[in-house]
Amino acid sequence: MHRYDLHSHSTWSDGLLAPSAVVQRAAARGVDVYALTDHDDTGGLAEAAAAARETTMTFVPGAELSVSWESHTIHVIALQIDPTNATLDAGLAEIRSGRDARAHRIAASLADAGIPDAYQGARSFVTSERLISRSHFARFLIEQGHARTMKDVFRRYLTPGKPGYVSHAWATLSQAVSWIHAAGGQAVLAHPGRYRVTPTGMRRLLGDFRDAGGDGIEVLSSSHTPAQFAEYATYARVFGLLASAGSDYHGPGESWLDLGDLPELPAGVTPVWVDW
Ligand code: AMP
Ligand code: MN
Ligand code: MN
Ligand code: MN
Repeated sequence: MHRYDLHSHSTWSDGLLAPSAVVQRAAARGVDVYALTDHDDTGGLAEAAAAARETTMTFVPGAELSVSWESHTIHVIALQIDPTNATLDAGLAEIRSGRDARAHRIAASLADAGIPDAYQGARSFVTSERLISRSHFARFLIEQGHARTMKDVFRRYLTPGKPGYVSHAWATLSQAVSWIHAAGGQAVLAHPGRYRVTPTGMRRLLGDFRDAGGDGIEVLSSSHTPAQFAEYATYARVFGLLASAGSDYHGPGESWLDLGDLPELPAGVTPVWVDW
């Protein structure tokens, strides 16, 4: 039985470890097939692929695209992409281009709540000049003593209705899926259990995703409870979508699942790797 981990981050987005360090950690933890999926960027894939060649692990080039669907931000994982594809590259650059202005709006919202200088504070945690994210604001807020843990900080700040949350228009679902397909990849809806939608909304999202050409959904994710593993396996079967598995690892001390810490996929689903 191979151990798959198809969702993780490095310093090219909001992870804490460099690509080669994440790869080495995955290999040391017994992962057999591993994907690096940085937010809106493929810049770390070359280093990760080179590091993986020093191990027995199979490397899968990936990314995690930010998408706006209805009033929600959703994430779409790209797997088995060609990182040199110009269409995908331009699409990712377009998604990233809004992030800096958004960060200034996040900082203004935090300033209104009595927390000044958050833009520079978040910047001090940024590890790729191409990408500033809410995680960097979260680390700044923890450093300043406004919260103790990542979970806590997102409960109190940076999420809808809380200081530091601003709405933002990312890519559309059909853009994201088409860019991923242009690069020869598969499009996988990330951590569906995390979206605050009704059961009807979830069926609409899965229907829209499949209609846009989406290939699979994450069934196993650190954002899901064991009950949700079963729930999303059923959704995958009912909607004719493939099933994926990923820890969404960001670094030591920040994720409750480490690399490779996932059970086997529930019976009855077709894995996203069926044709790899
Ligand atoms: P952004 O792409 O800038 O909106 O940042 C999103 C990132 O924030 C996610 O990829 C996670 O790494 C992090 N994040 C969002 N919500 C939470 C949460 N509730 N707990 C921990 N991390 C979170
Ligand atoms: Mn993240
Ligand atoms: Mn995500
Ligand atoms: Mn992620």
